[in-house]
Amino acid sequence: MRILYVEDEQLLADAVTHLLKKSGINVDWAEDGEEGLRLAKKPVYDAIVLDIMLPKMSGLEILEIIRKQGIKTPVIMLSALSEVEDKIKGLESGADDYLAKPFKTKELIARLNALVRRPALQESKLLKFGDLEFDPDSRTVNGIELTEKESDILEMLFKSGDKTVQKDYILAHVWGAEMLAEDNYVEVYMSYLRKKLRSLKSKVEIKTIRGLGYKLCSKS
Ligand code: CA
Repeated sequence: MRILYVEDEQLLADAVTHLLKKSGINVDWAEDGEEGLRLAKKPVYDAIVLDIMLPKMSGLEILEIIRKQGIKTPVIMLSALSEVEDKIKGLESGADDYLAKPFKTKELIARLNALVRRPALQESKLLKFGDLEFDPDSRTVNGIELTEKESDILEMLFKSGDKTVQKDYILAHVWGAEMLAEDNYVEVYMSYLRKKLRSLKSKVEIKTIRGLGYKLCSKS
């Protein structure tokens, strides 16, 4: 299970993240509302744990925006104010569950498992292509570590099989729509990924389909 945890109180975030990781849950942490929203749009999370009171943008605003955009990732709202009003607002905005602070991490894990409906300790799902095995949870390909963006891009390439992934699609999903002008970012990251695949001596390469995008190919 991979979750996004949006929480501005660093000590709490560290403690909760530590315990979640110990029970086999991969956690990406965002410490303010803007970063939370940017990450929440990624199609890689099994659930989002969202604090309400956050700098830059509240958890309720993030929830409203992602639900309006059709993102259905399950959301658990957190709030220090264990007020009924927050709970109602959260659930009205499309939250799936609500946990009042302070909470026990055990309780959070139980809620996450109920929401995602699969055990936290399951083996991660490996994606395979040719001689490559990619693990999106640990962000590794044949054991080599990838950065967050490299991993997101590679996940799209693996999931599309032999179909071409459009450059604009990659840009919008990895960097967000606001970055559409900077389309050389994709090329730069493709060169990082190609370098890593070469270092693995893989027979798989990332092919550029001129004017369209990219796809994985096995070298003959
Ligand atoms: Ca807070």
